[in-house]
Amino acid sequence: GLAERLQETFKKLRGKGKLTEKDIKDAMREVRLALLEADVNFKVVKSFVAKVSEKAMGTEVLESLTPGQQVVKIVHDELAALMGGAEAKLNFDPSITVFMLVGLQGAGKTTMAGKLALYLRKRNRKPLLAACDIYRPAAIKQLQVVGKQIDIPVFTLGDKTNPVDIAKAAMEHARKEGRDVVILDTAGRLHIDEALMLELKNIKAAVNPREILLVVDSMTGQDAVNVAENFNTILDISGVIVTKLDGDTRGGAALSIREVTGKPIKFSGTGEKMSDIEVFHPERMAGRILGMGDVMSLIEKAQSAIDEKEARELGSRMMTKEFNFEDYMNAMAQMKKLGPLNKLLEMIPGMNSQEMKGLDLSDSEKEMAKTECIIQSMTQKERRNPKLLDNPSRKRRIAKGSGTTVQDVNKLLKGFENMKKMMKQMGSMQKNPKKGMFGK
Ligand code: GDP
Ligand code: MG
Repeated sequence: GLAERLQETFKKLRGKGKLTEKDIKDAMREVRLALLEADVNFKVVKSFVAKVSEKAMGTEVLESLTPGQQVVKIVHDELAALMGGAEAKLNFDPSITVFMLVGLQGAGKTTMAGKLALYLRKRNRKPLLAACDIYRPAAIKQLQVVGKQIDIPVFTLGDKTNPVDIAKAAMEHARKEGRDVVILDTAGRLHIDEALMLELKNIKAAVNPREILLVVDSMTGQDAVNVAENFNTILDISGVIVTKLDGDTRGGAALSIREVTGKPIKFSGTGEKMSDIEVFHPERMAGRILGMGDVMSLIEKAQSAIDEKEARELGSRMMTKEFNFEDYMNAMAQMKKLGPLNKLLEMIPGMNSQEMKGLDLSDSEKEMAKTECIIQSMTQKERRNPKLLDNPSRKRRIAKGSGTTVQDVNKLLKGFENMKKMMKQMGSMQKNPKKGMFGK
């Protein structure tokens, strides 16, 4: 990740005091490359790098940081600021609130309509889904399937009625049925076209949505920026939802969209399931772009699937230096409950790094089983005190017992140490956020 590359760049520099011009220039080269790699729009990269350079110039290096860490901190903070700083909230009307989802075909509108409805119902709202896509074959059916899955009513007038009239009738229906939020699932096209834009404008004029949320597929990278610019110019959107962040995208699109439209990103879609929706956190996205992983999202996710107390304990143990192989086993067991492994592991700090790949957990469940075998072959004492394992004969015994090799055991120990280090860093950041990411 970018964070490691920056650290690497500054490894040799031990000096304290001000950041020199050369320090900054070297770092900015890395920043530029990494952002482009993460699919951030080149114009956005340019202005971002200029801004960060200016900020870094003459900055005092904090006592506990190296110059490299200081630059990482500046980049991280600026990234988060660029994406809006704080979380953006949804706005509601006192009577019936209309949310209108717009975006290209396949962006994830229909899926997001369902996710949003479920999200709102969990917060004591009474949503109604309205099928305003009358063009895509089976679009109405798709929304009905979604609605049924989460037990939320779907309003439709079939595919022969004008979407503007459908939207109006949906409002009327909501009033009669006592629903307080209407979510309009509108049509998309493969490309922006005028007929579609006119239709969306007419829907907007007819029902005055409180939020017009542009749904953007984060995998589309550079293209996402043009799409966002277009929709925003014509509809004056109120916010953005980025979908498919569970893919291998680094999230650069999110950064660009925010910068280009000036509109906040409110939610992200992180999978195909109805529960795969997250409030968008600029700080965390900054971490993701930097390649620091996203331990906070992981903990949040864990909390909804695992008993909350259990998760909190796990979370805080992960952040301390006592974290041992017993905790590691627990964590693995609980993660298994949470779904696709690679997706979860991505969120653990350091999992993107080369060394962590040594653990190879994300590759297959088989690897995970191997890891488990190795840990099973440790004595309880060893699990609780991993330092004991710094001993060749113990390693040989464990390898033999688990049907693996000493190399495998070493690989696991190395990965575990790296993970601990990262967790500790995250831990101190949490305890003392003002100090920055690398406060000692
Ligand atoms: P629409 O044309 O904008 O309504 O898009 P759909 O809601 O029909 O979604 C298009 C495809 O993307 C479907 O196969 C969805 O299951 C998938 N999809 C939507 N959101 C996500 C997401 O957050 N992650 C992943 N992996 N797939 C998604
Ligand atoms: Mg659709």
